[in-house]
Amino acid sequence: MDLYSKQMVDEAKEVADRAQRNSTRQENALMTLQARVEKLSFISRALWTFVREMGGKTEQELMERVTQLQREEAEKAQKGAAAPRLCSKCNRPVAAGQERCLFCGTEVTPGSIFDRV
Ligand SMILES: [Zn+2]
Repeated sequence: MDLYSKQMVDEAKEVADRAQRNSTRQENALMTLQARVEKLSFISRALWTFVREMGGKTEQELMERVTQLQREEAEKAQKGAAAPRLCSKCNRPVAAGQERCLFCGTEVTPGSIFDRV
């Protein structure tokens, strides 16, 4: 194989390796998202069983509440992002699902069960 052909093969291998690494990263991100969705689904179903056991609410009312929350979230998004939790030490925002501040490492108390997914 001449030098030019070898360079072309090496470049193709690098491109293939990068694509493989990117694919693996995307698969991992997808698996993380699937796990979070599954956890949220369990939380939602558990909440619904409490509501049903307490009585007085129908699935129609549940769907209306979902629609109301979606509308409120859309309004918040239009005004700017919802207020994040803040680190107690450095006062920087901490993303949902994070247990520690990314900036100073301080452990952050979850605000609600939904912050832990
Ligand atoms: Zn901090």
